[in-house]
Amino acid sequence: LSDRLAETFKNLRTKGKLSAADVDGTVREIRRALLDADVALDVVKDFTGKVRERALGDEVSKALNPAQQVVRIVNEELVEILGGQQRRLEFAKKPPTIIMLAGLQGAGKTTLAGKLAKWLAKDGHTPVLVAADLQRPNAVTQLQVVGQQAGVAVFAPEPGNGVGNPVQVARDGVKFAQQKMHDVVIVDTAGRLGVDADMMKQASDIRAAIGPDEVLFVIDAMIGQDAVATARAFQDGVDFTGVVLTKLDGDARGGAALSVASITGRPIMFASTGEGLDDFEPFHPDRMASRILDLGDILTLIEQAQGAFDEDEARKMAEKFSTDTFTLDDFLGQMQQLRNMGSIKKMMSMLPGAGAMKQQLENFDEREIVRTEAIIQSMTKAERTTPKLLNGSRRLRIARGAGSTVTEVNQLVQRFEQAAKMMKTVAKGGMPNIPGMGPM
Ligand code: GDP
Ligand code: MG
Repeated sequence: LSDRLAETFKNLRTKGKLSAADVDGTVREIRRALLDADVALDVVKDFTGKVRERALGDEVSKALNPAQQVVRIVNEELVEILGGQQRRLEFAKKPPTIIMLAGLQGAGKTTLAGKLAKWLAKDGHTPVLVAADLQRPNAVTQLQVVGQQAGVAVFAPEPGNGVGNPVQVARDGVKFAQQKMHDVVIVDTAGRLGVDADMMKQASDIRAAIGPDEVLFVIDAMIGQDAVATARAFQDGVDFTGVVLTKLDGDARGGAALSVASITGRPIMFASTGEGLDDFEPFHPDRMASRILDLGDILTLIEQAQGAFDEDEARKMAEKFSTDTFTLDDFLGQMQQLRNMGSIKKMMSMLPGAGAMKQQLENFDEREIVRTEAIIQSMTKAERTTPKLLNGSRRLRIARGAGSTVTEVNQLVQRFEQAAKMMKTVAKGGMPNIPGMGPM
């Protein structure tokens, strides 16, 4: 997924204005990439439709940097589908807060029960785990082991009571929590390898019996295209208030995340990233969006780069170019703006695969700004506004004043003239550019 998208965005980045064909090409690539990542077809269609509409709209065509705007839109739409803001657990006004786990066998419910409990305990809560999975012979023992590892209490049916009734166990578990002053109850339930009516009924009966504050649907991120059918079945059969994605440590690209969140409209609340009890964290929609796009933190960096260039300032520049009033002072101003990017360059060097943009920044030498600054500041006001005045003796004087050489002064003037000329051409087409940076 990532390579292809990165390539697409790179191609976009080298363009100035975007045509409808550019947008369509990009949208086609995004569509293919999402399908590759096992995102459901309906979801992909919906998503690319929205991106296309926005990419062709005003916010992009009027922007200084349309390609970046498209990247931003893709990211924004992904974050939106993935739940926008991160959602926290709802705690009951009157404890205990009841959290029920549901999902297929092997999804990671029992493991999650331990993770969640440990995480809550660290936060000062006193959770108890309830073993309402009586389907598999060792399910209860497994939960007891997990509880011990997490250092929390476990409520389990007495052994030797036959098959037992999971609904009754769940109910008793909640009662136990009330008596023992546990403020959170986490109810582990049974799953089957595939969705089946009995399992769904059992889960829905448990839900009805204990009235949980949260029902978390636990789903393996590696499930691929089956994510949609499974999520729908659980939504219809039990319904849930949030989703937990497990096994994100695998190489699943997160297509399931996008499908489930989009199809069910329920927020993804937690991410499970390993077998250990600490491999667990609240879900961050923005991070998952980046993972899906595999842009790393490049989006943040682009935003910062955008911030470093004031758009109004750039428009004023464009006007100066087209009316031929661009001066060495303006040139210096531009160079100084570029300096704001210095810290970004540092960050970029720490990011793997930030590719094209990093290369452009590498080519940019901060010391050069300092030298340029010194030279321009050695010029008189008249020389700065009318560079044509700069004859040989003036250049020699300036070089001395700046502690540099005439060659360096000549180079600077030449670069300035090139920039002014190039800018003038570009400005006629509407969009200014930044010398030394190339189009981004
Ligand atoms: P349950 O049937 O839904 O209760 O699933 P379990 O909690 O028993 O987990 C099934 C298997 O998946 C176990 O071997 C777990 O160690 C493993 N597992 C659970 N969560 C994760 C995870 O986030 N990453 C990885 N790699 N394995 C996990
Ligand atoms: Mg289990």
